[in-house]
Amino acid sequence: MRSSKKYDYVIVGGGIVGLSTALKLQEANKKVLILEKEKAVGTHQSGRNSGVLHSGIYYKPNSFKSNLCIRGRELMLEFLNTQKIPYRLEGKIVVDENLEKIDSLYERSKSLEMTGVEILKNSALTDKEPNSKILQGLFVPQAGVVDYKAVTEKMAAVFKKNNGEIDYFQEIVDIADGQDSKLVSSKKETFRGDFLINCAGLFSDKISKLDGLNPKVKIIPFRGEYYEIVNEKSHLLNNMIYPIADPNLPFLGIHLTKTIDGRIEVGPNAVLAFSREGYSWGNFNLVQTIETITYKGMLRLGSKYFKTGIDEMYRSLNKSAFVKEVNKLLPGIQKEDLLPRPAGVRAQAVSETGELLDDFLFEEGDRSLHVLNAPSPAATASLAIGEYIASKVLN
Ligand SMILES: Cc1cc2nc3c(=O)[nH]c(=O)nc-3n(C[C@H](O)[C@H](O)[C@H](O)COP(=O)(O)OP(=O)(O)OC[C@H]3O[C@@H](n4cnc5c(N)ncnc54)[C@H](O)[C@@H]3O)c2cc1C
Repeated sequence: MRSSKKYDYVIVGGGIVGLSTALKLQEANKKVLILEKEKAVGTHQSGRNSGVLHSGIYYKPNSFKSNLCIRGRELMLEFLNTQKIPYRLEGKIVVDENLEKIDSLYERSKSLEMTGVEILKNSALTDKEPNSKILQGLFVPQAGVVDYKAVTEKMAAVFKKNNGEIDYFQEIVDIADGQDSKLVSSKKETFRGDFLINCAGLFSDKISKLDGLNPKVKIIPFRGEYYEIVNEKSHLLNNMIYPIADPNLPFLGIHLTKTIDGRIEVGPNAVLAFSREGYSWGNFNLVQTIETITYKGMLRLGSKYFKTGIDEMYRSLNKSAFVKEVNKLLPGIQKEDLLPRPAGVRAQAVSETGELLDDFLFEEGDRSLHVLNAPSPAATASLAIGEYIASKVLN
């Protein structure tokens, strides 16, 4: 037991949310330890995402997502500039067949005082994206792209430079209450802290249970599968084209993103993963799969969206069906133009009644705080999430 050393805060999870929280606590001169089960930071969601700096326009006003995304984007840009991490801020075009939805997002942009947002039609739109098939969309100049894996690694470097500690290969399997402290154990060691913060992403519900909580949600892993367009056709897109996602569905709809390295990412197909870290159809974990498919909330969700789920699976297994969807946004792409790209698995909290939790969710325990839902745009929002958590726990 490493109990000779006591930390002010022990954070479980070395993803972008854990690191951001650690940085904010460090700013208040706290002694912070991060425990990570992998050999590096950003191995899961934080290193396997689309790299979009979201503007915050999509989210319900005054929700955590809306407030923390807008504030987080500001803090993220400051961090990127200070740390000289490359990013591009060239905007995205948001599309939907239902033009009322576009109008209402436009109105929202005004109430959020976002400047430069405009509805583009016909030639105004083709000036931005000459090869797309869309005739009307909303241009949102605040959106951009970055490499969040690089951001997470830089956060870890800054944290360590300021005497923060990160311990790798420490999978947390037990949490107990000590005298005026939390005892957080891996199979190898026990660590002692005044306070525990759970930022374990795909395993955050499990960690909260170890701490004696009985969360009303379960993390359901949805794999986002992507392709990238071959180099010879990467000139077909200038920036990003995004349909408006339906917050009730775990499926985001296929969108196009020109990533920070100039490749065009196309996707996702969103399918239920058969393991919490199931990055391909072959990653199968029997215990986790049984847990997922027998969960009351999952059964309800599955029955509500059975057909949509089957469509997504079909597209996952049938490239031609995928290409057909892509061509609705960008014609001229053929099957052979799409190369597979690494998948990501989204940690999505689902309630017992079968609802996808749209907003970020935090729950307090005894000397602990648990981040129970931090899906997209949590990478954009991470530093604001860290700021929010720090303000709560420092009080
Ligand atoms: C496919 C995809 C695309 C996305 N695109 C975007 C985007 O474009 N823009 C955006 O803003 N957001 C995006 N997101 C969301 C964003 O990536 C996540 O919300 C964010 O990375 C969550 O960070 P995290 O630190 O909570 O989780 P993670 O990065 O998953 O980190 C959790 C960490 O906890 C560790 N851990 C888990 N269990 C234990 C344990 N028992 N003991 C020790 N360590 C443990 C894990 O190893 C992991 O490193 C996307 C997500 C996905 C999946």
